[in-house]
Amino acid sequence: MTSEIRYDRDNVFAKILRGEIPCDKVYEDDHVLAFRDIAPQAPVHVLVIPKGPYISLADFSTIASPDEIAEFFAAVGKIASDLGLDDPGYRILANHGSDGGQEVPHFHVHIFGGKKLGAMLP
Ligand code: 5GP
Repeated sequence: MTSEIRYDRDNVFAKILRGEIPCDKVYEDDHVLAFRDIAPQAPVHVLVIPKGPYISLADFSTIASPDEIAEFFAAVGKIASDLGLDDPGYRILANHGSDGGQEVPHFHVHIFGGKKLGAMLP
């Protein structure tokens, strides 16, 4: 079954991309949207998503073009930098699947910053 068929077009990030749910946007280009998390886990908590229908990193890393992947991660770095997080730093994180704690089935990278972050624990 292809990703296009498995992809849930009613997931909350698909609705945000279609403008059916509002978001606090911090960045947008032709392929990427970034907005603040509705339940922030840090003073700065931004979600960065590709606009294509990728469920998780497994889809994004195998279906998206190398250019799209490179541009996505370049955008993640630019967004963090533009948010003033380069110094003293920030964390990026992507959850994959149920064991990874992924709740929204549209690939996304979290950017956390704005405070000294605790150690990552499994
Ligand atoms: P996950 O656990 O899938 O990696 O993270 C999903 C994130 O999406 C969570 O941090 C959650 O707070 C956030 N989220 C869920 N629904 C909405 C929404 O409607 N708007 C925004 N801005 N964030 C959301």
